[in-house]
Amino acid sequence: MKTPAGTECPYFYGDYYRGRSNEECRLIGNAPAPGHWTRDLCAVCPVPRIARANSCEFMTLTARVNHGILGIGKKVVISAYCRKSNSDVKTPEIGCGICHPLGDYINESRQ
Ligand code: SF4
Repeated sequence: MKTPAGTECPYFYGDYYRGRSNEECRLIGNAPAPGHWTRDLCAVCPVPRIARANSCEFMTLTARVNHGILGIGKKVVISAYCRKSNSDVKTPEIGCGICHPLGDYINESRQ
């Protein structure tokens, strides 16, 4: 579903049926303030970019809101874990490298 920032995000849910305006982030969930979700976070969240780059079914994302100082620099911090390799994923856009080793891409580009 499209976020208020206009990007597709698999974790955004908006219910606008019959004048309703219920929006939620199903990744951040109902975290207590000040780490709670607000719709402005979608504009600075890396999740839509990660979802476009890597749709690995084994990768699990976890999000928390970094509130910043007095709300300045507020952002979404993502951590990723691979259930297949049982390891943290340093770069979620690329993945852990088990399913799609970097060597595959190098070999394909030479052909
Ligand atoms: S905060 Fe990020 S994960 Fe949550 S709905 Fe917005 S773009 Fe998606």
